[in-house]
Amino acid sequence: MMIDWEERWQSHQTGWDLGAASPPLTAYADQIFLEKRHFRVLMPGCGNGYEAIHLLQNGFSDITMLDIAPSAIAHLEQRLSQTELNWQAKLKLVCTDFFHVEGVFDLILEQTFFCALDPEQRPDYVRKMSDLLAPGGKLAGVLFNRTFEGGPPFGGDTEEYRRLFDPYFELKTLETCYNSAAPRAGSEVFFIFEKKGS
Ligand code: SAH
Repeated sequence: MMIDWEERWQSHQTGWDLGAASPPLTAYADQIFLEKRHFRVLMPGCGNGYEAIHLLQNGFSDITMLDIAPSAIAHLEQRLSQTELNWQAKLKLVCTDFFHVEGVFDLILEQTFFCALDPEQRPDYVRKMSDLLAPGGKLAGVLFNRTFEGGPPFGGDTEEYRRLFDPYFELKTLETCYNSAAPRAGSEVFFIFEKKGS
């Protein structure tokens, strides 16, 4: 299954877009020690990436926002340019396929990227995430805990996620998300997976 994401962006089929930063992700970022906020953060499949502005406003200084769709990156760049933030020094915008990106990160944030991919790619997603993380690095964010008719989004459940991530990640947290954006209340889990072997 191949999805033309740029075509979706251009025809405004962006039903996943919350119109604002995702509360579970910003709450997670807010509890990270101030001294650690220089660490390398990646958000793949970032879409409009509202979280970027929150991260910049809260002292994060090494952020990479990545999406395969040029329109997504252009929208985010435009929004960043409308702020007073000195974002060019702290944030990179990368338009590429997640599976081809190279780099090392300390924290990767997940929101509605995993569920956008063909479920057959899930093992590759897990391996790629592990490859991109530094020793002790973490993948954190939200995953759906429900099924959908068709997809994307493609759903899943915690048993599947435990099984999938186990070869490469130690599970730190996987629980019903208490601070979801309203339309997703009760239908997603918040997770923190730490790269194994570190
Ligand atoms: N995280 C954003 C966007 C979710 S929609 C949000 O929550 O609003 C999924 C996004 O992933 C789309 O913007 C799509 O263009 C992007 N995407 C899909 N496959 C990708 C891939 N292989 N590499 C990078 N981005 C991808």
